[in-house]
Amino acid sequence: MSEAKPSHNEILKENSPTLAGTIAQTLADPEADKFSKDDSQFLKFHGIYQQDNRDDRKGGKKFMFMVRGRLPGGILGPDLYLAYDRLADEYGNQTLRITSRQSFQFHGVIKSGLGKVIKGINDAMADTLAACGDVSRNVMAPPTPATNAIREAALEDCRAVSKALLPGTPAYVDIWVEGVKLDLNEKHEGFEDPLYGKTYLPRKFKTAFAIPPLNDTDVFTNCLGYIAIEDGGELVGYNLVVGGGQGRTHNNNKTYPRCGDVVGFIKPEQIVEVSKAVLTVHRDFGDRSDRKHARLKYVLEEKGVDWFRGELEQRAGFKLEAAREYRFEKQGDLFGWHEQTDGKLFLGLHVSTGRVKDAAGRRLKTALRRIVEDHRPEVRLTPSQNLLLTGIDPAGRDAITAILAENGIAVEGQSSALQRASMACPALPTCGLALAESERYLPDLIDQIDAALGETGLTGEEIVIRMTGCPNGCARPYMAELGFVGKSPKKYQVYIGGNETSTRLNTLWKDVVLEEEIINELKPLFERFKAERNEGERFGDFCARVIVPEIEAAASEEN
Ligand code: SF4
Repeated sequence: MSEAKPSHNEILKENSPTLAGTIAQTLADPEADKFSKDDSQFLKFHGIYQQDNRDDRKGGKKFMFMVRGRLPGGILGPDLYLAYDRLADEYGNQTLRITSRQSFQFHGVIKSGLGKVIKGINDAMADTLAACGDVSRNVMAPPTPATNAIREAALEDCRAVSKALLPGTPAYVDIWVEGVKLDLNEKHEGFEDPLYGKTYLPRKFKTAFAIPPLNDTDVFTNCLGYIAIEDGGELVGYNLVVGGGQGRTHNNNKTYPRCGDVVGFIKPEQIVEVSKAVLTVHRDFGDRSDRKHARLKYVLEEKGVDWFRGELEQRAGFKLEAAREYRFEKQGDLFGWHEQTDGKLFLGLHVSTGRVKDAAGRRLKTALRRIVEDHRPEVRLTPSQNLLLTGIDPAGRDAITAILAENGIAVEGQSSALQRASMACPALPTCGLALAESERYLPDLIDQIDAALGETGLTGEEIVIRMTGCPNGCARPYMAELGFVGKSPKKYQVYIGGNETSTRLNTLWKDVVLEEEIINELKPLFERFKAERNEGERFGDFCARVIVPEIEAAASEEN
């Protein structure tokens, strides 16, 4: 462990290992509209961010909360979906936001509704524990229903890992389910989490499963990844990926995005031990003095893969086998109607920027509620912020299509190819870290990019576009073929050169581009793409082959 001075968050955790802080007392105080700064750090472990409406700070901040669920693999049964839908109406801003890690979050919850939202989720047999904070976050798994025999097996392993890495604090249930108003540090004096210890992890820890040839969970962007290996239709094990991550900080070279390394192969029955071993390497070797440099990816980069493998094997008590062959061919989701292997149907729906809402002419939230009430499908959230309705009886297909049509949603030809392949983080007005717009701006920008592609003779070209309002990279912009990262209001960094399989980091192309200049900057690039691309070559591959070497040559000339 680092010997440098521990950060303030480390001291907080050490002093309140139940993660209770004084949340219970503040929750019980009807006069308080917010929690203390220190408690706002503890709230994250409970799945809550204290925020304010940044559009409306006249007369002082108006505090509100983002509440994020924990939904391993992004799966909700119909009753849980309907609970989320109702709670968003009663206590949130009447929308549900699909996160880039297959969960739902509520925005705009005020303090008097906070307890009711979380109790409501728990009453529906789910929770929000560890949805944020310095712990294992929502574990991702491929959401598409069984199209081969190993899909459900991988989902079971996802659930097992999620359960094994869950913190055991009794304070969560005390506060949000039992409504205890006492000093919980006193009540649970001496509590120490058996896996995390007193100070939990130095920062967040992300895990994902992927099943080749589809890299729909962006597995290389995770601290811990499992690539399923199939043999003769059976799941025989996983290639283990470690040390991926997206976040960076502007003007801080100690921070950078990183693709995870494939370090070996494990059998399915080893998955819990291996997950705990990887997590405890982060726990014991992550940087606890500088939170910007505290992710597992920096341990990997600085100590090396061989060191990591040795450390892992010692903790797990067995040797990793050599990684097996695998091949990713694409990312993304399936849209429209598809058949499952069990004869039932599933329907993929594009959700623009992941926001389930009712808008003029497109009432997605109403349509989904009616479909779930009438047909009771399972709802699966995808890592690209879309939604699948699964396990549908073929007899219900036409009725579901009709409900969607009545609410302005077409099943065929949903949105443009560009819109479907895009992602944006929430950013303004709710996220306290946002430097620029993202969710509210990207759909319009994509329409402009679509028009620019049309003018260049590239109508219908699919380009993976992602935007975030700050360099933290919640929508994984550093893997996009075209990525935008907020620098300051109306100014973005532009990245190019990611690929369709999401296995390659992109490269900074322009450090500052004004919003109104983005299309002017992109058009000459699209023209070169049209003129110089190889047959069938995607935009990201063209940029990596032609433009990125030019950027690198120019940079080495400057040095
Ligand atoms: Fe907020 Fe930055 Fe994440 Fe966007 S990327 S949601 S602005 S922290």
